Amino acid sequence: MKRLVLLGGGHAHVHVLDALARTSLPDTEVVLVTPSAQQIYSGMLPGWIAGHYRRDEIAIPLMPLAQRAGVRFVQARGTGLDLDARQLQCDDGKTIDFDLLSIDTGPTTDTGIAGCAEHAIAVRPIDDFVRHIDALIHRAETDPAARLAIVGSGAAGVELAFALRQRLPALPLTLIGASAHPLDGLPGRLQRRARRLLAERHIHWLGPRRAIRIDTDGVTLDNGDTVAATQVLQVTGATAPAWPAQAGLATDTAGFIRVGPTLQSVSHPFVFAAGDVAAYADPRPKSGVFAVRAGPPLADNLRRLVTGQPLAPWHPQRRALYLISTGDERALAAWGPLCAEGGWVWSWKDRIDRAFVARFTHADT
Ligand SMILES: Cc1cc2nc3c(=O)[nH]c(=O)nc-3n(C[C@H](O)[C@H](O)[C@H](O)COP(=O)(O)OP(=O)(O)OC[C@H]3O[C@@H](n4cnc5c(N)ncnc54)[C@H](O)[C@@H]3O)c2cc1C
Repeated sequence: MKRLVLLGGGHAHVHVLDALARTSLPDTEVVLVTPSAQQIYSGMLPGWIAGHYRRDEIAIPLMPLAQRAGVRFVQARGTGLDLDARQLQCDDGKTIDFDLLSIDTGPTTDTGIAGCAEHAIAVRPIDDFVRHIDALIHRAETDPAARLAIVGSGAAGVELAFALRQRLPALPLTLIGASAHPLDGLPGRLQRRARRLLAERHIHWLGPRRAIRIDTDGVTLDNGDTVAATQVLQVTGATAPAWPAQAGLATDTAGFIRVGPTLQSVSHPFVFAAGDVAAYADPRPKSGVFAVRAGPPLADNLRRLVTGQPLAPWHPQRRALYLISTGDERALAAWGPLCAEGGWVWSWKDRIDRAFVARFTHADT
């Protein structure tokens, strides 16, 4: 009997669990190790903040999914690996032996801004973020001096700004970003449209300015200015966790686990990685789309390895569809250079997102 440990209940692993619920792996015990009993679906998080979804509508409960798959559920966070002994160390002090390990733990938050750990609410871990949001909204509704700054102006920061504006129409809100425009990396037309919408909604866009310190007064910028804020959200993009490189797994220069086209670690073939924590052979942006797309080839290759078949290479699609909600049941879309906007884009996004969660939530879908 071999043991496969699935570390992290991320987008690719929910697919692996779903595949295991359909067909189990022969002679293999599968264990899911993840710190939360649910996977919050980040694509619907801004819609929940804006008031369009209930809290339970944006979460995939992992325990029933694991149960259907015949997978043992261990609620813990992986903190380190001994690759020679094939042992996973967890934050509860326990170790778990494995023959095969698959990692889908997502990214972590950059701790490089002074004071961020003490004075900012980080978007990751998302479970903790969700717990803070109710208190943030309550404070903003009851404290006339409340002012919010969001550090990070990529797609997630912009969506959260629009969602919070929808929920808190009178809250002074500043969006801080180091890039020349919000939605850096997306088509210029979309960036310009986002800037116009930010201005119309009285969301003060402060870019290109790098946040260098966060304290009780607010956010200090690289030009010495301070943005006064009673609460600060940090949405600064994907950073690699430290433990994969510390364990000796081959990583890219940013610390993400380097995998080949079969999703196996290039240094340790008994370790697989997918989603934002992985650096693919053919690099792709960190995005839920690619984490989701990695699920089927990951499930397939884990099965192939266990059953002694040759592994199949995965070639991720070139482009991802970006759907960015603007808080008011409208959304912006980008597919390569093509852009669109409107209520119909939101309806489209809403359908895709609800279907994703439903697929892993209801046994009969
Ligand atoms: C507000 C917001 C909105 C977004 N909207 C979109 C969108 O609309 N479309 C899109 O494509 N992308 C979107 N993204 C990006 C998207 O969230 C990520 O790219 C995606 O979550 C990556 O998936 P993943 O499976 O790699 O990791 P995650 O979804 O982060 O899942 C990681 C899992 O591993 C668990 N875990 C973490 N650390 C450990 C550990 N040490 N040990 C064990 N388990 C661990 C976590 O609890 C979690 O269950 C958004 C991000 C944010 C913040």
